[in-house]
Parts: sequence; structure tokens; C-alpha cells
Amino acid sequence: MAKFTIIPGLTFVDRKGWGAKSAFPRLGHKVPRSKRTQVILHHTDMADTNDASPILWETLPEVYRHMRRIQTIRPDLGNDVPYNFLVFFMAKKNGMVICEGRGEDRSGAHTKGVNTAGIGIALAGKFDEDEVAGIEVSKRMYLLSGFLGWLRYAPSHPDYGRYPAMKNLGSVRPADRAVFVHQDFKATDCPGKRALPHLAQLAFIHPNAF
Ligand SMILES: [Zn+2]
Repeated sequence: MAKFTIIPGLTFVDRKGWGAKSAFPRLGHKVPRSKRTQVILHHTDMADTNDASPILWETLPEVYRHMRRIQTIRPDLGNDVPYNFLVFFMAKKNGMVICEGRGEDRSGAHTKGVNTAGIGIALAGKFDEDEVAGIEVSKRMYLLSGFLGWLRYAPSHPDYGRYPAMKNLGSVRPADRAVFVHQDFKATDCPGKRALPHLAQLAFIHPNAF
């Protein structure tokens, strides 16, 4: 089980860590890391419902329950998390938790036509709701940049394993952002109108630069 800090405020939890049900193993096919050229952002469109904010998560058990729910939420896509990673904005200390979905090395089921070249990352919550506070999104974007940089430059940890970097990640990108969003590929609200204005802040920043 791996749960570790990438940079202060940014915690990574692998499948064992969040308690992935073993009845629903990782789907997709193996993809060499050198073939990953782009990141595609989504939102899960599933609100955190126990308080006023549909995008802020209070506790780790709540996050882990949500992950196990996502394993079986879209049987039409197969019983596994369709994204490579999930991002949870934590209410406490403006933190962020990244949960492993299919991970670095398996294709996803998130964006038709780009599930092999693309790493699909979903923001957990409903980012199209009017009550989403822009400041809560904006002030966590540097943490997401740290995760993007970790994937591209340094995706290893003693409790996780030693892996090659994804050196081509981000080499394919839209003109005005470091990452794509779902609606760059399809007519959809994803990743939500409250997330979109903040995504130009994103960059692939080496974790050592923080
Ligand atoms: Zn999407």
C-alpha cells in the first residue's frame, strides 16, 4: 500500500491505499510510457453531497468510499475507474489528494480516440455548479501542476516503485493550455464551467522546484 506526499499539501494514494475492490481489477491495455503525449482533464460530475460545496472533500475515508463507488459507476465502460487518476480538493489546509485509477501504464475509458496517448485525470466533484467557489479551484492549481510534473519527470517513490518518467507527456497540447480538456474532443460540459477559467495556470512543474 502506498500513500505518500509528492510536495507539501499533495498526497498520492494508490489502489491498495484506497481499498480498490479486487473483484474489479484494472481494465485497459498496457501502454508504454513513451507513448503518452498529452493530458486530458475531466470532472466526475458527482457532487460531494454532505455539505455546501460540491467539490470539497472533508476526510480520507470519504475519498476512498467515493473511489470504490466509481469502480462500478459506469458498467457500460467496464467495471473499473475509467480515468488514470482522480483529483480530490480537500477542505482542510487547501490540500489535494490524488488517487490512482488505472495508473500510468494502462489505457483509459475517458476520451474517445485518445485513451492510449492521453493520461485522463478527473477532478472529483461537480464543477459545473454555480456554487463552486473559483478561489477554491484557483488556489489548488499549483498542486496539480506538481502532480503533472511528477508524472512527467519523477514518477517514483520508495513505497510505490521506481519507474521511468513520461518524458513526452505534454508534448501535444492546445495552444493556450498545458493540458487538454474533454470538451476539446467532444461536445460536453466536462470538465465544468467553474473549472475551465483556472486551467490556464497549469504547467508541468518538477516536484523539486517547489
Ligand atoms: Zn469528461
